[in-house]
Amino acid sequence: MSSINIIIVGAGPVGLMSALLTLQNRGVAELVIFEERKRTDIFNLSYQVSFDAKSVQFLTECTVDFDNIEGCWMDGTFTAKVGVFLEYVLDRIMTSSKATVLFSNKFDRQEFDNMATSEGRHLLIVCDGRNGQTFRGLGFHNFCKEYPCGAYGAIAAIKRPEQRDIPTPEKRVHNLTFDLSAYGYHLSETNGFPGFSLKIFGNSKHRFLSIAVTKSDSNVVKTLRSVLDRSMMRNVFLKCFNVFKAVTEQSISDSYALHHMEFSPRLFEIKLSQRCETVAYFDDCDTFVLAEGEAALSFNFHTGLDINPHIRCLMSLGAFIDKLTAADSENSILESMVFKIKDLEMVCKELVKKGLKEAMFSTR
Ligand SMILES: Cc1cc2nc3c(=O)[nH]c(=O)nc-3n(C[C@H](O)[C@H](O)[C@H](O)COP(=O)(O)OP(=O)(O)OC[C@H]3O[C@@H](n4cnc5c(N)ncnc54)[C@H](O)[C@@H]3O)c2cc1C
Repeated sequence: MSSINIIIVGAGPVGLMSALLTLQNRGVAELVIFEERKRTDIFNLSYQVSFDAKSVQFLTECTVDFDNIEGCWMDGTFTAKVGVFLEYVLDRIMTSSKATVLFSNKFDRQEFDNMATSEGRHLLIVCDGRNGQTFRGLGFHNFCKEYPCGAYGAIAAIKRPEQRDIPTPEKRVHNLTFDLSAYGYHLSETNGFPGFSLKIFGNSKHRFLSIAVTKSDSNVVKTLRSVLDRSMMRNVFLKCFNVFKAVTEQSISDSYALHHMEFSPRLFEIKLSQRCETVAYFDDCDTFVLAEGEAALSFNFHTGLDINPHIRCLMSLGAFIDKLTAADSENSILESMVFKIKDLEMVCKELVKKGLKEAMFSTR
């Protein structure tokens, strides 16, 4: 066994969790995290991260103490303000003498060249989010495979500037029907009940709503997919919010929605995209490059459960690093890369087969 130096691009949830995991690996000699934003900007991020029961179990085994993170629990799922979670993980990382975190530092080609000229084997873990350009900057293309998930969806965000960022438990409702007759669409459901699912989530200041339905030829679905009538869609979200909001929340009026609500104007097809190249090896400088998090895999549908597939991918990170530190031949290098690529393929297949079904349509 030899050692490896780790460089992580991005201090989002996946970047910092990757850092915490790699520090538990005895083969890791040094860890450097690059984050282009300021430290305060990261801690002030107001949206949520949610971890399902499986992810909670994995992270607990990796010594994440959820009892020490401010957030809320519902049906085994833990939800926290992303800044609060990141602050907790960063504190843990900073207790290690191997770790250096460089805020306000963008990782670019120049940084890569500096790293490549330093001694030893390196693993660059790119967690720069869905719009990250690190792979492209290293000469890779940004092609993605897209998998249809057999469902349509729409999302809305309500910003309530007068409220504070307090996490709120998710609310789910299943088998909703929409009455569109006020817009002149008299739809008799001859070909099946569409059964929409609704989720209300976020925090008191940023409220998010998502509706999803499995693909169908229902007239309501056809109308919501093809008719671009903003007032109709706004009304769908407004009514949903007012009927199903938490009892402690205030209803919103038409004029409030007009000024404070953004939403998809019609149903779109929910797709999962997976970066085509996620693992690479630079022979000349003995450096591996790996994409994790939204840089590797993302939905075009922010249901708030996006984080879980990324945690599933991180479950194989420890074994991958073990393989890299031990790899001493062309064959074993290739084998370790194939191991990680296959793992991502498996996570994708699982997600396409049942991920969205479990996340959006389960009646838990
Ligand atoms: C509005 C909104 C609401 C959401 N709500 C929820 C929710 O309720 N529940 C939930 O679980 N998930 C939610 N999500 C999804 C969740 O936030 C993402 O799944 C998660 O942030 C992805 O983590 P990541 O670490 O892969 O990427 P990111 O969080 O995007 O982190 C990438 C980081 O990389 C940095 N970076 C990029 N390029 C460079 C570079 N060259 N050098 C250095 N740093 C770089 C960026 O500054 C950024 O900090 C929401 C997302 C959004 C946008």
